[in-house]
Amino acid sequence: MARIVQKFGGTSVADITRIKSVARRVKREVDAGNQVAVVVSAMSGVTNQLVAWTNDLAEIPDAREYDVVVASGEQVTAGLTALALQEIGVPARSFLGWQVPIETDGSHGKARIGGIPTESLRGCMDAGVVAVVAGFQGVGPGDRVTTLGRGGSDTSAVALAAALQAERCDIFTDVDGVYTTDPRIVAKARKLDKITYEEMLEMASLGAKVLQTRSVELAMNHRVRVQVLSSFTDAPGTLVVDEDEIVEQQVVSGIAYSRDEAKVTLVKVADRPGVAAAIFGPLSAGAINVDMIVQNISEDGTTDLTFTVAKADLARTVKVLEEQRGTLVYQALKPDSNVVKISVIGVGMRSHTGVAQLMFKTLADKGINIQVISTSEIKVSVLIAEEYTELALRALHTAYGLDV
Ligand code: ADP
Ligand code: ASP
Ligand code: MG
Repeated sequence: MARIVQKFGGTSVADITRIKSVARRVKREVDAGNQVAVVVSAMSGVTNQLVAWTNDLAEIPDAREYDVVVASGEQVTAGLTALALQEIGVPARSFLGWQVPIETDGSHGKARIGGIPTESLRGCMDAGVVAVVAGFQGVGPGDRVTTLGRGGSDTSAVALAAALQAERCDIFTDVDGVYTTDPRIVAKARKLDKITYEEMLEMASLGAKVLQTRSVELAMNHRVRVQVLSSFTDAPGTLVVDEDEIVEQQVVSGIAYSRDEAKVTLVKVADRPGVAAAIFGPLSAGAINVDMIVQNISEDGTTDLTFTVAKADLARTVKVLEEQRGTLVYQALKPDSNVVKISVIGVGMRSHTGVAQLMFKTLADKGINIQVISTSEIKVSVLIAEEYTELALRALHTAYGLDV
């Protein structure tokens, strides 16, 4: 007998028919003698609707009330999934975040899990009852409802698997695994049997939405055996593993894209010591994360400085910089949200050269201009105009020999 966690995403619980199918899948594990904790997301589209309503009411919604509203989608699916299980003869009980409890800090909207006491869940599972946990939500200081950031049910599942010392954590979604790139954009994307924690972490943080970044971090730190698979088929999925479990390592194992970034250019900033600090200091004080940065050298004592921030932070970024106009001298401020960040990822880059060069050449051959570049040990990212997303992804996928 093993203890396992099964997580079902939005499309997997999109309606009653899908929830019944989830229940049958859970029953198979129960019939095989396993103790199961199920984690569910809200029905697909529901969280977007809830977020939209908070924005309809308030320009900057109070973070605590935002969480109360957006956490509600998972309450519905947890209850319905428990009912669906009971209807096919599987004892089941739902748990909301505060009932487990999934303890988090107080950063509403992007809370981090601190600990998960498992007595109540273990009691339930030891009694032969499936625990159905509402994903995405927790309980913070003052017993307030918190949420873990968009896509956070993955993190709920992995954190539970770690706390329960589960044998594995199966993440069921609408694709049958992790692909070399988003299979919805590149038809020739290839499913990976295995991917390293490190590469998965980069893929996720660079935009591949298939797993939330924080869930991969947790899986890596607690050595949780995560598997990504489809709730629509019985095809084998992708296992996230240690590097030494991979026999044949490609130089580039995946390509990710993110449309969530925006570019800001400060034209003709005085080129003297302290200027970068004068720009990025106030941004950091405003909790605005800056990702890529490029500074152009110029000869007249001024420079153009370009950087990227989350699209959601663009308006605030402009506001903060305009407020600095007294101390910070520049000719113009140009925000641009019509950009996409494309990244190639692979642990093989550590030992191979020419990876970045192939990226630049491939994009140049397609006439795509690179606006900003950033690199790390196992990835190269470029910022390009958003309309080239598909073209760039497909061309790079072919260039790195990843096509099926
Ligand atoms: P869920 O609601 O089940 O959590 P998500 O929409 O959050 O599902 O994540 C699954 C989606 O991730 C897929 O439909 C796919 O379009 C997207 N995706 C992006 N990059 C990849 C990738 N490299 N491999 C697989 N899926 C990817
Ligand atoms: N329902 C939440 C969202 O849409 C959490 C999740 O799906 O993982 O972001
Ligand atoms: Mg998701």
